[in-house]
Amino acid sequence: MEDCLFCKIASGQIPSKKLYEDEKVFAFYDIDPQAPVHFLVVPKEHIPSPAGICPQNQETVGHIFSVIARLAEELGLENGYRVVTNCGEDAGQSVQHLHFHVLAKRSLAWPPG
Ligand code: AMP
Ligand code: ZN
Repeated sequence: MEDCLFCKIASGQIPSKKLYEDEKVFAFYDIDPQAPVHFLVVPKEHIPSPAGICPQNQETVGHIFSVIARLAEELGLENGYRVVTNCGEDAGQSVQHLHFHVLAKRSLAWPPG
């Protein structure tokens, strides 16, 4: 997808602080961290938002969650972490490429504001 920031990050056209990569998934640290650990996990395939998850890409989305669990273990997030995906304007989605935030190493309020 042309002109998509996270497509360009996932393909290496735009640099990022890479944490993990395989054939389907890319993970990198958020540029504006909201917790001591804050990284994003994205599919390499362009999916515009969580509303675009469907039977054709659900395997990739499931794989993303197994990658998150593995990274959480590697990063020592044994005290817990939060996975967030924002969908659309009301949720504050600012990049139109599906991404899962992983936040950790501080106490996180619930419910979110
Ligand atoms: P959202 O607001 O849920 O769409 O999340 C988008 C996230 O992408 C925000 O937390 C931004 O800080 C982050 N972000 C934007 N540009 C970059 C970038 N070039 N590298 C890493 N993270 C970014
Ligand atoms: Zn994209």
